[in-house]
Amino acid sequence: MPPKKSGKQNKKLTIQQERVKADREATQKAIQDKNDHTLLDNEIAEREKVAAAERQEFENKIALTRQIQENFLPRFQKMPKVELHAHLSGSISRKTIEFLMNSDLKRAKQILSKYHLNEPKDMDRVFDTFGIIHEILEKPEALRVATLEMVRDFVKDGCVYLEIRTGPKNTPFMTKETYLKVVVDAVKEAQLEHPQIKVFLVISFDRSLVYEEANELLHLIGKFQLETNVIVGVELGGNPKLSGIHLLSIFQLARRFHGLGVTLHLAELESQTDDVLDYLMMLPDRVGHGTFLHTNPKFVEMMSFYKIPLGEFICSENQNKVFILEICLSSNVYSKTVPSIHDSHFKYWKTKGVPLSICTDDKGVIPGATLTEEYYKAAVAFSLTTADLIQINIDALRSSFAYKYNVTDLRDTWRKIHHNTLE
Ligand SMILES: [Zn+2]
Repeated sequence: MPPKKSGKQNKKLTIQQERVKADREATQKAIQDKNDHTLLDNEIAEREKVAAAERQEFENKIALTRQIQENFLPRFQKMPKVELHAHLSGSISRKTIEFLMNSDLKRAKQILSKYHLNEPKDMDRVFDTFGIIHEILEKPEALRVATLEMVRDFVKDGCVYLEIRTGPKNTPFMTKETYLKVVVDAVKEAQLEHPQIKVFLVISFDRSLVYEEANELLHLIGKFQLETNVIVGVELGGNPKLSGIHLLSIFQLARRFHGLGVTLHLAELESQTDDVLDYLMMLPDRVGHGTFLHTNPKFVEMMSFYKIPLGEFICSENQNKVFILEICLSSNVYSKTVPSIHDSHFKYWKTKGVPLSICTDDKGVIPGATLTEEYYKAAVAFSLTTADLIQINIDALRSSFAYKYNVTDLRDTWRKIHHNTLE
């Protein structure tokens, strides 16, 4: 029989047991912690691996896109293209701005930071960009240079027919009449300098003009039109939040009495389509953007009713009824009226057989939006073949004001487009 333990011995034993228990628990906890950390480390490592793979995939995609662009963009650049919708104030290149700032690169950088959009913005912010450019085009010589450089840029980009849009402004150095004279003379100069491109002017009527101002402008246009063959059409433009219905009769007069082509920025915003039906009823030659035309059955009915089959079947008496939509893919994305190029209304109207033209709108403001890049983006987004792109240019030239109103001989331009050559 073992000797009976005293109370002191029992207490010592309990303390020892507790110590052993505590040590065991500490060891277990350490093992558990180590396991937890290992798990966490593994999880972090796994996530890093996934993130690195995603990064690599993204970089590969960018490299592939760059490679495709490098391989394919020259082909798109060499394609003879028609530009029906390009605003002078939105198409000034970085090089031209630097030149106009007398090589003051600091000032040029400040201007470009306001003029150039880095990401999509709402419509008001897009319109803010034009304020800064109007300031640098206040003087006649700057306006002349900007017009000439815009034409040179388009020539380099493979454009064979260009309609430049601009709205005359009173500046501290020019009246509206002087403004018109400067751009008309600059276009005449460009026509002589670049015989490989047909270039004309479309004069803008801003939605903010009151009727009397618009009427005065129409008289001025009539005067210059009599003297030269440079102004071929008029357009409704400006902030699409404003209705332009008060200017409807100006466009009717421009067509009826001056024989000018009519193109209208319509349905650019879903929230403002008050003037669309009345303007469609006047059968404009062309519609700019028309981003939300397909959302209203009445507009769709109008567009479909007046759509005439193109190609061999067109005849002179109905050709003036053909609507063409001037689609500006990147511009719509950068003014947030469509979420992406894939979501553009281009697809809807193409399926309906409505003729479309691919246009830049404001290549100076919007990054990656030269005419070549817009053709490339359209081809990728909507799986367009070379034959489709040639047809788009044929439709565009057929809807050009110089063709519709017999302003000039376009036989050589037709030949280039049909044979897909700039030579
Ligand atoms: Zn526009």
